[in-house]
Amino acid sequence: MTEPAPSKKRIAVIPGDGIGKEVIPQAVNVIQATGATVELTEFDWGADRYLRDRTTVPADGFAMLGRDFDAILVGAFGDPRVPTNIHAKQILLGMRFQMDLYANVRPVRLLDAALCPLKGIEPKDIDFVVIRENTEGVYTDAGGVFKQGTPDEIATQEDINTRKGVERIIRYAFEYCERHKKLDGSPRKQVLMCDKSNAMTHAGGLWQRVFKEVSREYPQIMAQHMYVDALCMQMVRDPRQFDVIVTNNMFGDIITDLAAGLQGGLGMAASGNIHPGKTSMFEPVHGSAPPIAGKNVANPVGAILTAAMMLGHLGMTREAEKIEAAVLEAVRQKKATQDIGGSLGTREAGEWVANFVGRE
Ligand code: ATP
Repeated sequence: MTEPAPSKKRIAVIPGDGIGKEVIPQAVNVIQATGATVELTEFDWGADRYLRDRTTVPADGFAMLGRDFDAILVGAFGDPRVPTNIHAKQILLGMRFQMDLYANVRPVRLLDAALCPLKGIEPKDIDFVVIRENTEGVYTDAGGVFKQGTPDEIATQEDINTRKGVERIIRYAFEYCERHKKLDGSPRKQVLMCDKSNAMTHAGGLWQRVFKEVSREYPQIMAQHMYVDALCMQMVRDPRQFDVIVTNNMFGDIITDLAAGLQGGLGMAASGNIHPGKTSMFEPVHGSAPPIAGKNVANPVGAILTAAMMLGHLGMTREAEKIEAAVLEAVRQKKATQDIGGSLGTREAGEWVANFVGRE
């Protein structure tokens, strides 16, 4: 009897600008080396395209991605030739907002003790995930400037927090905690909500009330709270205490860079922009890094781990685990770029991982 053909997952690939154009081809090679049943389609959205024909997102672009693809793999956007950064805003923020990718999920794992700037920390000590609200907060661009350029100038930046938005991200964090295990196979047990409700009482009050309510539905999960300033200090003093952290858009943005520092820098960090049941987008945490672009020095690990996260999200757990194991080996053996102690270029580091994945 023949097995039914596995359905091919359709993945849109948008390398974008700068080092995105260097690291994403490596991530794609690694995906292909797993033998995953995927169909990859590349799009040229980014600064080059914008400078050529002024297109940021082609008409119907987001609808097309949602309709024709199961996931999107993105590199980075930002190019000194486009000082307004308009293409980056329209593509990246457009995707997050218009496709309603409300959960920004950033796993924080230490692959090698040598990569952590903290003393006495082992890889098993850093294995947590930050779940950042991705569609609200202070990043909605609500507000304005009044009497600009005068001594009486006033600038306001509104912090938007809807009941719906807060509830769905907190619920996502509990669901994530329930469904995901730690790297060592043990279950995740704790969701910690991070805010600044002592100073930002209105928005913080809503987060507090909703967190209490939703946590009652998950009595088996420990619900904890920390103010964001205390959390920053604790993350540096003792990162072992964290498991799943849920927070708003701005605090999430900040604490995930701190967390990336604990795992060896921006070149190591992966992320997903997720709306359960809809086409979701996966991108390395780093930006386009113009100073190092085009030099074959960018670390491809963040992009490769992002590809693994995407395959895991699409149900290809075996392929995702293969990639993670290969990356772990590359980091341990220093078959890697200079920022993490190796001596390979972007291409060579990517090829090493792809060869390791494809060995069997
Ligand atoms: P954005 O605002 O677009 O997120 P950013 O200004 O915060 O970007 P990046 O573009 O990510 O920052 O990079 C900042 C610096 O970090 C780079 O100039 C580079 O030195 C380092 N860096 C970032 N990503 C990598 C990488 N993949 N490999 C090596 N170094 C990196």
